[in-house]
Amino acid sequence: MNVTSIKGFRDVLPDEAARRRAILDATRGVLESYGYAEIELPLLEKGELFQRSVGATSDIVEKEMYAFEDRDGTLIALRPEGTASAVRAYVENGLTRSLPVGRLWYSGPMFRRERPQKGRYRQFSQIGAEFFGRDDAAADAETLCLVADICAAVGVRGTRIDLNSLGDAACRPAYREALSEYGRLHASELCTDCCARLERNPLRLLDCKNPGCKAAMSAAPLMIDHLCDPCRAHHDEVLRLLGVAGVAVTANPRMVRGLDYYCRTAFEVVAEGLGAQDAVGGGGRYDGLVAALGGPDMAGIGFAFGLERLDLASRPDGDDLGVAAAAVKILMAPVGEAAAGPALALARRLRQTGLRVEMESPGRRLKAQMKHADKIGARFVVILGDAEIASGRATVRDMRAQLDHASLFGLADDATAIVTKLEQIGQFEQR
Ligand SMILES: [Zn+2]
Ligand SMILES: [Zn+2]
Repeated sequence: MNVTSIKGFRDVLPDEAARRRAILDATRGVLESYGYAEIELPLLEKGELFQRSVGATSDIVEKEMYAFEDRDGTLIALRPEGTASAVRAYVENGLTRSLPVGRLWYSGPMFRRERPQKGRYRQFSQIGAEFFGRDDAAADAETLCLVADICAAVGVRGTRIDLNSLGDAACRPAYREALSEYGRLHASELCTDCCARLERNPLRLLDCKNPGCKAAMSAAPLMIDHLCDPCRAHHDEVLRLLGVAGVAVTANPRMVRGLDYYCRTAFEVVAEGLGAQDAVGGGGRYDGLVAALGGPDMAGIGFAFGLERLDLASRPDGDDLGVAAAAVKILMAPVGEAAAGPALALARRLRQTGLRVEMESPGRRLKAQMKHADKIGARFVVILGDAEIASGRATVRDMRAQLDHASLFGLADDATAIVTKLEQIGQFEQR
């Protein structure tokens, strides 16, 4: 019996891996242009970290976290998200003092034991960014500019940024109570999950996907109507600044995000063509989190994009071949065992000039090697048969012109001189 992968875990085949790398490169470029520095965070954390940050009553911690007891009895968790780790690292490494206004980004796999569904995996990748030490509206607006610029750089189609304010410690408790009361009045219409959330996490009632809950909550009070004056002023200023900066956002007063630590600004990025699960990323302000994890009273705002979601929302239509599309420029074709050594040596030298060179098998007939050159779209084939080894000069086939050039260069020639010779017989881009 074959050993297969675990349900919800999958392989990323070369075509997709190449696209993911392009998305990461584009995103990194934008992040660095905003002054963000990269931080690498561990995949495993103490379970307590997520209980204290994401929230013990959140779906993520309650139902989806991969957690286990280590040999010494410590509760260990595979990270379900990145913000908690980033905040822990920021506090633990003294960056709250050395980098009191800090912009950090990270990328890598996250783990949630979600119900398997199309496009959702239990191991998924995120690109996240955290902006510490600023609680002013301009920091929120800058963050949303960054989000919009990443979407543009990656080429996400039909982007919409949904924006809401979740209030703060001054105004949310009263709103929470009002929402909970509304929920109790409509308890008979709510699903069992929502009934359980009524007291513990009533905000989640607003984003339940159950049609009955949606209908029951349609007239529920909204946070945006219950903001205190400072929260209201902050939210209005964020909207004003975004208008000046030219970033379009859509008010979505029902968007609450799934995590406990958000306050004030919360946002979600949705893209067209992704169906019901249309969010490609999201984030928000989390001013109490640094202190909650043992640091000073320090503000923070951040976001994360799902790499798989970005890929779906930006890739051209059409099926994946699942085959590497890296453009090999030269196929080294040694015919016979005597050619193997010189071919290996020549290929290495040519690669040092930056050329992509793939080496064929010396045991195969030239015809089969040429077929392979066609398949991979090689620009040139360097043929080393008995005659070439005897003369010390290579034959080159120009695949585009379907022309052979006998004795084009000597096997001991300088690699850059060889590249010049190739350029003379046919135009090609080296990279
Ligand atoms: Zn519900
Ligand atoms: Zn408030």
